[in-house]
Amino acid sequence: MKDKASIIVQKFGGTSVADADRIKAVADRVIHTKNEYDHVVVVVSAMGDTTDHLVSLANSMSSNPSPREYDALISNGENISASLLAMALIERGSSAISLTGKQAGIMTNGNHSRATIATVKTDRIMEELSNSNVVIVTGFQGTNHVDDVTTIGRGGSDTSAVVLAAALGAEECEIFTDVDGVYTTDPRKVTNAKKITTISYDEMLDLASLGAKVLHPRSVECAKENNIVIHVRSSFSLDQGTRVTAEGQMEALKAVTGITVN
Ligand code: ASP
Ligand code: MG
Repeated sequence: MKDKASIIVQKFGGTSVADADRIKAVADRVIHTKNEYDHVVVVVSAMGDTTDHLVSLANSMSSNPSPREYDALISNGENISASLLAMALIERGSSAISLTGKQAGIMTNGNHSRATIATVKTDRIMEELSNSNVVIVTGFQGTNHVDDVTTIGRGGSDTSAVVLAAALGAEECEIFTDVDGVYTTDPRKVTNAKKITTISYDEMLDLASLGAKVLHPRSVECAKENNIVIHVRSSFSLDQGTRVTAEGQMEALKAVTGITVN
């Protein structure tokens, strides 16, 4: 018997899948998670700065690229990471399958490059999970009413992951990044920065509006609406990170650190 809730969604961002070795490390981590949960759904972003590269290619073709073709192009980075991760998992003896946004049933409106996810038709994901697969879903993309690929805004894979967690009834969505949590100040710049164990949805949204680029703001709103705990943690360590939940501890921390959050 596995001792935890049966389904978890894990999202790995661009730095976590930046090259082949990192993708292999992600595969090892996913296998570790598969030992703890019955079902694992993984959402991936594009490798490193792939999306930036695709955007600049689009802009080199036209000063005003066709929105449909723009999304058809810039959504490709996620397809690459998803299939590579599936290969790495299969190589390690774990059944795995990659699904595009469309295959995963992620339905959006038609606003290319800033589409909103309307619903997720979870049938295919559920079927693959019941066949014991780790299901890897491309972040950042979905499909519109005429089956064209859409993208949901830069940094949107966080939102893909939280939306999937909500649709699949997961209680927690783990977001893996290159910092091991949310700090009172940027740990890359200040040495005595303090890791926040728990932060509320509203405080996290405040931080985002102050320019903290830890999570895509829409992902936090969606987590709040659906009561999903977001666990922001490092893909390079097993340490607990920061949980974004209904109640946080920022009020106490503010007193000690003087951090200003409006
Ligand atoms: N790859 C996309 C971007 O760079 C989506 C994401 O990283 O979340 O914006
Ligand atoms: Mg990215």
